[in-house]
Amino acid sequence: MKTLIIGGAGLTGLSAAWFYRQKFPDHRIILTDPDSQPGGNLRSEWRGEFLFEYGPRGVLKNAHAFFHLLHSSGAWDKLKPGRKTASIRFLWYKGRMHQLGGNPLAMLTNIELLKLIPALLRETSVPPGQLEDESIYDFFSRRIGQAATDFLVDGFITGVWAGDSRQLSIRSAFPTIWAAEKAAGSIRKGLKATRDQRKADQLKQLSDFPHPDPGPARFFSLRDGIQSIASHLITAARLQFHPNSTISEITPAGSQSEVTLADGTVLMADQVVLTGKATSTASVVEHLNPTLAGLLRSVTYAPVTVVNLGYPSIRKPASGFGFLIPSAEKSTILGIIYNSGTFEGVAPPGGACFTVMFGGAHHPTIGQRSDADLISMAREAMSGYLGIQETPTELGIRRWESAIPQYRVGHDLLIDRIRQEAISLKGIHLLGNWSGGIGVNDCVASAARWARSL
Ligand SMILES: Cc1cc2nc3c(=O)[nH]c(=O)nc-3n(C[C@H](O)[C@H](O)[C@H](O)COP(=O)(O)OP(=O)(O)OC[C@H]3O[C@@H](n4cnc5c(N)ncnc54)[C@H](O)[C@@H]3O)c2cc1C
Repeated sequence: MKTLIIGGAGLTGLSAAWFYRQKFPDHRIILTDPDSQPGGNLRSEWRGEFLFEYGPRGVLKNAHAFFHLLHSSGAWDKLKPGRKTASIRFLWYKGRMHQLGGNPLAMLTNIELLKLIPALLRETSVPPGQLEDESIYDFFSRRIGQAATDFLVDGFITGVWAGDSRQLSIRSAFPTIWAAEKAAGSIRKGLKATRDQRKADQLKQLSDFPHPDPGPARFFSLRDGIQSIASHLITAARLQFHPNSTISEITPAGSQSEVTLADGTVLMADQVVLTGKATSTASVVEHLNPTLAGLLRSVTYAPVTVVNLGYPSIRKPASGFGFLIPSAEKSTILGIIYNSGTFEGVAPPGGACFTVMFGGAHHPTIGQRSDADLISMAREAMSGYLGIQETPTELGIRRWESAIPQYRVGHDLLIDRIRQEAISLKGIHLLGNWSGGIGVNDCVASAARWARSL
């Protein structure tokens, strides 16, 4: 019987296992992870009636690969729609909260947003750039001006990528926007010109990853937390899961590979997939191809620390998804997610739960603070930004030292070189969120593409 060994029980490894199982029903699949539980960045925890998420909390309506994974593996009934108000997001800028999404009147009467309209309208007449790649900050400053970039773009980058918009690549992080300027000389013209193509791409995604209509909500998660997909897939794909096991070395052995775990156990595999961080994959392949290992090590990561707070009762429940803070505000937090504003059933009736996000490329050492410091900073943020002064009865902290890979300027070229070098690895495949996108849906789609290409 053929054996596949997967290093990494995060969403990429789990999805790779599921799609491989669909193609090869009789093969043996071994899944290893240094952690005691599967999920990688997917980390959910019930604390009484509070559901805490420490990593991703959900997906948008166009997450076809993720929906297909749920449906094809028999987990569709785990899907939970977000509240209608989850589409309302906020940015904290110049000392106050600005609403984005939801009631258009709130945006049309916002002076800071109105001030940006001339620059946004001028975008179509700004000449296109000539570079093959540039930073997100430089790209948008050129196209919509510095003020709009500081306000509208930078907060998003700080929150979603935990990154520095002056370092991250427009081409790798926002390929559609980059391609729009290349195609038509401006973002707006390019998006208009490529509208039909983008619609066709969405339909293609849906035909590659068919699934039922998840309903009218715009944001979705799983009833018992997003990590619950991990144990489900281990059962559904009939995986042999080895927790607390790190792949430390792989040695070619004829047509197979000898996979050595950190505790000295040796397993034989016909195919191996490594889905850990680029830096951890580098250590495994070092002796096989040092050049490849060097390239993998040049992928950098931003740290994120999250503090979850559960309030049994609250006077001012916050409505909406949450808010982000542009780096120009020099805040110690990246933003706050209103978990109970986004989903029902994650806090007791009359209560609420929130996630305060710290760290990122601008504050990489905050996670080194003590638990007590982080909790006090989180409570200060709850009070300062949201006026919530009640005492939380449940608290949960998670420090992600290497949370999000940073697609810096030139990332596309780096990935091309990694792919070229990786050809030398026979029967070893490299996947993970350091290439192909950092989102939950991207990880599933990359894993599916890999399995289907075999
Ligand atoms: C705080 C946070 C919030 C996020 N929020 C969102 C969100 O709201 N929406 C969204 O779409 N995305 C979000 N993301 C991004 C998304 O969650 C991740 O990109 C995705 O889960 C990564 O999955 P992965 O399997 O590629 O990597 P990981 O989850 O990192 O899994 C890799 C696994 O490999 C294991 N491993 C490493 N080395 C070895 C080895 N040598 N042998 C065996 N195993 C090994 C690791 O222990 C780990 O479990 C968030 C990420 C973080 C950290």
